[in-house]
Amino acid sequence: MRIAVVGTGYVGLVTGTCFAEVGIDVTCIDIDERKIENLRQGILPIYEPGLEEMVERNAQKGRLSFSTDLSEVVESCGCEAVFIAVGTPPGEDGSADLKYVLAVARHIGRSLKGYTVVVTKSTVPVGTARKVRQAIAEELEARGEQIDFDVASNPEFLKEGAAIDDFLKPDRIVVGVESERAEQVMSRLYKPFLMNGHPLIFMDIPSAEMTKYAANAMLATKISFMNDVANLCEIMGADVNMVRRGIGSDARIGNKFIYPGIGYGGSCFPKDVKALIKTASENGYAMQVLQAVEQVNERQKSVLFDKVVAHFNGDLAGRTFAVWGLSFKPKTDDMREAPSLVIIERLLEAGARVKAYDPVAMAEARHSLGDRVEYGKDEYEALIDADALLLVTEWPEFRSPNFSVVGKLMKEKVVFDGRNIYDGAELAAKGFAYHGIGVAQQV
Ligand code: NAD
Repeated sequence: MRIAVVGTGYVGLVTGTCFAEVGIDVTCIDIDERKIENLRQGILPIYEPGLEEMVERNAQKGRLSFSTDLSEVVESCGCEAVFIAVGTPPGEDGSADLKYVLAVARHIGRSLKGYTVVVTKSTVPVGTARKVRQAIAEELEARGEQIDFDVASNPEFLKEGAAIDDFLKPDRIVVGVESERAEQVMSRLYKPFLMNGHPLIFMDIPSAEMTKYAANAMLATKISFMNDVANLCEIMGADVNMVRRGIGSDARIGNKFIYPGIGYGGSCFPKDVKALIKTASENGYAMQVLQAVEQVNERQKSVLFDKVVAHFNGDLAGRTFAVWGLSFKPKTDDMREAPSLVIIERLLEAGARVKAYDPVAMAEARHSLGDRVEYGKDEYEALIDADALLLVTEWPEFRSPNFSVVGKLMKEKVVFDGRNIYDGAELAAKGFAYHGIGVAQQV
């Protein structure tokens, strides 16, 4: 089988590479010439564990190639499916901006030669497949051609940082189709990924489009709910770590995604929650739970900074703060909507000096923070002369540092743990002041 994947970001590159990994011939296309040139030389535009080796292996085998020329690929590759995996950033009003998706659809319409399934993998609101179909049909009409094609919706559920595993061993694959023929193509494509018995769920296209938003909205809701509970725990003298374990062992609740922290970020939850609220309001419905989820998340991004202000009695000017972790979550370099940015901006505004370290996201962070922040060569260097450490992203290497070295490097032994990865009592016993989320302060 042959396919093309348009967009070589976190989703497109993983999708294309994983299809190649199971033996399908894949051409990955991007509008960004530098990205494609780099990919041809084995240089990846993103950090994703294990991806570089997999790209190299499949490129060497000749199953994975890269191009900037969408027309040429669609005209000549004889692709059974073309996946659209370009960005859908939030527009100013919160709705998903479909300009990249529809530009690709029109481009496909101008180049189509034979029956193809045009699959939207980007996260798009209900009704987008209809727009994609219309855009392609209009181009075909302008060409005076009658070529059979189908549209399908195949939302992606991979997690950055574990994307390859998620793609190769998915919990489920959701595909919205409106023809038997498209269902057959999608079944053949995904058959190699169903070895573990995980389901390939076919449904109508609007339901598939909605499934992605409902999934992300549910996950964001769990996070905001738990953050709300954490804040109340703190006020009432309860320990949210205990509460989490207490509720998580109830199978109906489950123990995943109930960790309190400093608010969700990333390229998906914030924009998808906004887009679903917007879709609803455009259609005369108010998503009240999600509106609260958003408000709680905005407030939560300030919680760690507020603790810093309270600890130092508002006197932050001239103080130095070490920040461990910049990416919105571990094992990615993605800085989009990262809570670290909000915290660091607030520290800088207050006149503080910030020394940051992240295992992979520092180059990406420089785009927005520039040289206003000092970047450590490792986590320990970032601590030198710090008045406090702020743990912002729970990278595995931050989980068990040598606290006697940490204490010696710092000016004051103060830890603000934005992810509750440390044991407050243990740190207090070592002479640290410890502030977690939803737990009593330990001094
Ligand atoms: P990204 O920004 O990392 O990558 C998008 C790529 O598309 C870029 O390389 C860009 O150059 C390219 N592009 C834009 N216009 C193009 C065009 N006309 N022709 C060819 N290439 C073009 O985005 P991403 O994070 O991979 O997300 C893509 C979509 O998948 C979004 O809708 C997102 O919501 C969704 N999604 C993302 C994730 C995730 O974890 N990142 C997970 C699931 C779903």
